[in-house]
Amino acid sequence: MPVALTVPVTATLVRMRGTDEGPPRCIALAGKVGQQASCTIYENRPGPCRDFAPFAALGIGDEGCARARRRHGLTPLGE
Ligand code: SF4
Repeated sequence: MPVALTVPVTATLVRMRGTDEGPPRCIALAGKVGQQASCTIYENRPGPCRDFAPFAALGIGDEGCARARRRHGLTPLGE
């Protein structure tokens, strides 16, 4: 993970730059949410990103995924 994409939280923990701003927008996100967006570091994305809605690519979301999609005016996956 390039250091320039992160913000230190503790001596051993970082977060993606932009995720602590309001509204949050990760620096690695490209495009416009709700239209076309993608992670520019997808193969190297952090653990929490890997854990979030792990079956979304198969069209299977979860509650967190549904909340995030609704926040951006999208219907939850599978509806
Ligand atoms: S999946 Fe990519 S764009 Fe989304 S929060 Fe994680 S690093 Fe950022």
